[in-house]
Amino acid sequence: MATNEDLANLLFPEVTETIADLEKRFPERNLPEGAQVTRFAPSPTGFLHTGSLFTAFIARTVAKQSGGVYFFRLEDTDTKRTIAGSADDLIHQLSQFGIVADEGYFPDGDKGVYGPYQQSKRASIYKVVIKELVRQGKAYPDFMTADELAALRKFQEDNKILPGYYGPYARDRRLTVDEAIEKIKAGTPWVIRYRSMGDHDKKIKFTDRIRGTIEIADNDVDIVILKGDGLPTYHFAHVVDDHFMRTTIVTRGEEWIPSTPIHLQLFRDLGWKAPKYAHLPVIMKLDHGNKRKLSKRKDPEAAVSYLLKIGYPPKAILVYLMSIANSNFEEWTFQNKSYDYTQFPFSFKKMSLDGALFDESKLNFFAKEVLAGIPTSVLAPEVMDWAKENDAVLSSKINQDPAYFTKILGIERDRPNPRKDYAKYSDIEPATRFFYDEDFAKIKANPLPFNPKYEPSFLKAFFADAAEKMAYGTTESTWWDSVKSIAAAHGFAIANKDYKANPSAYQGSVSDAAELIRIALTGAKDSPNLHEVIEILGKDHVQQRLRSAI
Ligand code: GLU
Repeated sequence: MATNEDLANLLFPEVTETIADLEKRFPERNLPEGAQVTRFAPSPTGFLHTGSLFTAFIARTVAKQSGGVYFFRLEDTDTKRTIAGSADDLIHQLSQFGIVADEGYFPDGDKGVYGPYQQSKRASIYKVVIKELVRQGKAYPDFMTADELAALRKFQEDNKILPGYYGPYARDRRLTVDEAIEKIKAGTPWVIRYRSMGDHDKKIKFTDRIRGTIEIADNDVDIVILKGDGLPTYHFAHVVDDHFMRTTIVTRGEEWIPSTPIHLQLFRDLGWKAPKYAHLPVIMKLDHGNKRKLSKRKDPEAAVSYLLKIGYPPKAILVYLMSIANSNFEEWTFQNKSYDYTQFPFSFKKMSLDGALFDESKLNFFAKEVLAGIPTSVLAPEVMDWAKENDAVLSSKINQDPAYFTKILGIERDRPNPRKDYAKYSDIEPATRFFYDEDFAKIKANPLPFNPKYEPSFLKAFFADAAEKMAYGTTESTWWDSVKSIAAAHGFAIANKDYKANPSAYQGSVSDAAELIRIALTGAKDSPNLHEVIEILGKDHVQQRLRSAI
């Protein structure tokens, strides 16, 4: 009578290594106490989803904050779903966020000694482990054809039986070794299944770093661990890879919670210590009052590339994601204004459980804060690069005169309380149109009216004087003094309280006078700091706009 050992040798004659050899090849990492090893393990099946960026960001944050290692593993065993080039795109996009792995798969080759970091290149490693499981009778070949499996599914469906290959429905689980060997020798195609000893009627418990104790029905399905194409399924690859890559915390989406019993069984049967798990909330969106998953189809913001294309600075997106991750982050930013978000002590315990909500106004709030804090010298080249790729109109304006554009960008920047007017780079062009004559002509074609209490002749005289007598090329206070004296000469009150005490004695207050100048120069009632606007436009332009204001 043949043994499991014979079966294992027949299935995997080429495998000579043992699990002990692998343990030596991929030894425990030598890291300080508390240092965590985390990973981001995407499948190369499309674009970088905002939820995946969130997952990668959290994984990296946990590793960085604990002095550990963050690595990137490419989960490309589902060859049918693989999209060529998408792995490298993912890595490139993550690098735009500074999320670069300490080790792992890189487009120009692996970095690190726990590789290969691409699952399709690890077949020989998985087979060592599978051969051992077969030898121990914990895994077996299954010869069911696609048609037979479909018939089983239909039978279960028709009879309202829980679907799957388990217990009485796990046909080939009961084959003797001799029967299996005979089929293999006859050339019958096979996959390898795990022989689950779990009982679906019993619950198992495990601790999730975010959710605490999770109690969930145990697995009794004999899942496929090695497919017909010689590659493992996710479940098996996860267990082998996170063991031999010495991951300490698995951060992955909450959709994996129901499969965790499978993973824990495999870890236990292999005699390995399971990593800790942190199942991250899915990013949700409020849609007409109902929460739903951020959807690739319906929500452009589900694609990171879209957020970058409309010009959110990567840092702004990360700061925003941190606010989704930890409810105490926002308060922390107020208390630690001089700190960078990377100094925030992230904690799994502070993670929201009922789905993180993607909220555009919140993103804009954080993005404005972040964008305002970027020095002009850093921001200008970033915006120029962005515009080249994404905004032809802005790009051509920049090219007309880059120094002029840089000055515009620098308004009320590089100071303790910078102006928070842009959330994203695409906000810049519309907000700065008045600086460009062609656009200003369009603004003037449909002008904001001046307060009708002022007669045109009054305005004409006031603007003529302002054009002539305003101080140019000076400090803000010298310029303001000049505005005050021009205003006073035209009947405006210099002190607000004088105006308030006796409004009918004046044309208005000095701020009303400044507003007239502002409208004449920018076409709007609110603009950035008027003195800076005047200095950037330059005396000639200012005079010309004031003289033709009415
Ligand atoms: N490849 C899996 C996914 O994209 C990874 C899950 C995990 O991190 O373990 O969902």
